[in-house]
Amino acid sequence: MPLTHCRLCNSADLHFDFAEGYRSRLKYYRCHNCRLVNYDLDHGLDQSQYTEVYVSPTLVENKRNVEGTATWQFLHRHVPGPAKLMDIGCGNGCILYLAREHGWEVRGLELSADAARAIAADTGIEVDVGNFLKMNLDDSANYDVVILRHVLEHLPDSVGALRQINALLRPGGYALLEFPNIDAPALKFKRAMKKLGLRSNTKYPPEWRPGHCNEFCRYSFNYLARESDFALEIWQTYSSKPTLNAIYNRLPIGTKARVLLRKNA
Ligand SMILES: [Zn+2]
Repeated sequence: MPLTHCRLCNSADLHFDFAEGYRSRLKYYRCHNCRLVNYDLDHGLDQSQYTEVYVSPTLVENKRNVEGTATWQFLHRHVPGPAKLMDIGCGNGCILYLAREHGWEVRGLELSADAARAIAADTGIEVDVGNFLKMNLDDSANYDVVILRHVLEHLPDSVGALRQINALLRPGGYALLEFPNIDAPALKFKRAMKKLGLRSNTKYPPEWRPGHCNEFCRYSFNYLARESDFALEIWQTYSSKPTLNAIYNRLPIGTKARVLLRKNA
């Protein structure tokens, strides 16, 4: 079924933005009301799980722990602690491990039972196995902080996802999210080159599908925050490369966004 309405604000004011994939047949539309970039979903998504080898979060110098460490440093700087933390899609448990070292009460949630078992055996941190979108949250609204990194862009129903996170939090609690920044100048440049025919989509095999369906900029993310009863407190961008990171944290032009939301009291 063709995309007729924006998945975030339900506006019909959609305009073709760019194409990707084999023969450029995967289409993306920008909503002129909320500015979300909607993938049309006509050819489906590919969410095949990466099967990564477990790297212990105790190996703080390992490069697999660099990004989690940066996220923890951001959290530690901006949120008063020790606090009660839930990390949804916690990977190897790096952030949970660092937070617990600082006296925080931590819990993880993972789709992968293997990852959950490995973290528990290695660190003793409790990790539930399940999908947060399907959790029954009646009596659980008491976390100070909930983290969701590089998951939001994969979910068609962004408002539903943020409302679930909202339900996990106490009033005044924080949500920390990371996701791509679709309006980063480097990504805009790539799309402009494709439009001019100076960069092609020929490298894609016919079966390639994206994992992302909703791409956010600061404006559309702020719209999402308001719709799900949050206030956007901090929007910054970052890079995994340390030299660029120092610039991107101050000048919001990086390709990845890191945001802090506060649940309305
Ligand atoms: Zn919209």
